[in-house]
Amino acid sequence: MAGFPRPVPEPDRDTAPFWEAQNRHELNFQRCASCQAVRYPVGPLCPKCYSFDFNWITSTGRGMIYSYTIVRHQTHPTFSAPYTILLVEMEEGPRIIAQLRGADDSAVAIGRPVTIAWDDEGDQSLPVFTLDGA
Ligand code: ZN
Repeated sequence: MAGFPRPVPEPDRDTAPFWEAQNRHELNFQRCASCQAVRYPVGPLCPKCYSFDFNWITSTGRGMIYSYTIVRHQTHPTFSAPYTILLVEMEEGPRIIAQLRGADDSAVAIGRPVTIAWDDEGDQSLPVFTLDGA
């Protein structure tokens, strides 16, 4: 999508590895080294046990649609409607928000499996999803 507004991440000590992994087409999560909780978004400490120790894990890229919305009202010239925003529960547990690509809106359903793909426009690759079997 030409001209599509892009996020401008401001990586810091905690988030830089996350953004760098996305440019390698890897969705990485933090796994707490103490309680093993997988967490997202990236942060300095575990929200469950308050440990600062963690390891990076790479998502399989597979998940299922937890919820979604179809945007039918165009609010910005570069966001050509309709488009679909998914809330996807990844196999590792975290839920992430990203656009659906390459499928008709009528095929979207809660519980449907999806696989991550990558939007490489601009300097930062971003996750999008495609429907499995579509
Ligand atoms: Zn923990």
